[in-house]
Amino acid sequence: MSTLVDITKQLRADTTSWETHAACKTVDNAYDLFFSDDIGEISGAKRVCAECPVIAPCLEAALDNQEQWGVWGGQLFVNGEMLTVKRRRGRPPKVARPEDLMPVVPVPMHLRERAQRRTA
Ligand code: SF4
Repeated sequence: MSTLVDITKQLRADTTSWETHAACKTVDNAYDLFFSDDIGEISGAKRVCAECPVIAPCLEAALDNQEQWGVWGGQLFVNGEMLTVKRRRGRPPKVARPEDLMPVVPVPMHLRERAQRRTA
C-alpha cells in the first residue's frame, strides 16, 4: 500500500522525468514543426533533436507507444514506420535542398534492433 510519502516521491520523480529536459519544449510552434509534412520543417525538427539531451528515452518511448507520425528522438515516423531519409522526387538540384541538409541523427545502440523493425 502506498503512503503519502511514496506518492509524493513518485510525483517528484515524474517532474524530473526525461520529458522535462526535452529540447522541443522551448521551441515555438513545436507541434507544427514536429508533425509537419514539409521537409524543411522536418529538417528543423531533426536539428532540434540532434542537440537534445534526452534523445534515447524519447525514441524509446516513441517505439513503446508505437507512434505513427512525427519526429521523435531524431527520427521521422510516417504511417508507423521510421524513415531514415525523406527526399523529394526528381534530379538532384544544383543547390542543396532542405532534405540534403537534413541531419542524420544516429539511433542509440540499444534501440537499433527495434528501430530496424520499424524502418521503411
Ligand atoms: S529528442 Fe526531439 S522530440 Fe524527443 S524530446 Fe528531444 S527534441 Fe523533443
